[in-house]
Amino acid sequence: MECTAESVAEAMRAVAAVVVEHRDELLRLDREIGDGDHGENMARGFTALVSKLDGHAPASPGGVLRLVATTLISTVGGAAGPLYGTAFLRAATSVGDVASMDGTVVAKALRAALEGVVARGKAEVGDKTMVDALTPAVAAAESVAASGGGVAEVLSAAADAAELGADSTVPLVARKGRASYLGERSAGHLDPGARSTSLLLRTFAGRAR
Ligand code: ADP
Ligand code: MG
Ligand code: MG
Repeated sequence: MECTAESVAEAMRAVAAVVVEHRDELLRLDREIGDGDHGENMARGFTALVSKLDGHAPASPGGVLRLVATTLISTVGGAAGPLYGTAFLRAATSVGDVASMDGTVVAKALRAALEGVVARGKAEVGDKTMVDALTPAVAAAESVAASGGGVAEVLSAAADAAELGADSTVPLVARKGRASYLGERSAGHLDPGARSTSLLLRTFAGRAR
């Protein structure tokens, strides 16, 4: 099984398509408990990424992840831009300059991404953010990698757990980000960032071979 720079770049193009496809859904979720721009922010960032990948293909998986990070930081804006940017930057550093990732490298990269999001945003599980999707995803990825799972199995377990984690945000009262301004009124809505995290992981899983 190979997870090279080319396959990571292809996965990022697939993510861009999925984010554009789900732009309106993410906009609607963010209109309910935020300022209604999450779909726009994410679509802008990943569309910019595709243009950059068209112009220059990094030679290693870590190089692709670093390009994702710098592009998202400079184009997404809001809360999600720096958070996803930090996540991909930490993942890039964790992956280093390996030519191909295996399940263990991917699980470690996901752990590093989560640590970056938490370092930046200080959210805990239960605060109704992307951390509620990413935390169980990392745990699932690590457990599958520890029992010898490959990239596809690691990512598919991560995506399943992220979906459940995102769904778990519905009844929660937000304690971080714009949704927290609503207090109790934030309950009963799916967190847009948790939803986008689950979309990203599901797409990565679908691309992994
Ligand atoms: P903004 O709220 O600035 O408009 P977005 O709408 O793009 O930014 O992103 C909102 C998402 O960012 C939220 O749904 C939540 O998942 C995530 N988020 C906000 N603040 C934090 C935080 N401190 N830690 C983790 N995630 C956060
Ligand atoms: Mg918003
Ligand atoms: Mg905003």
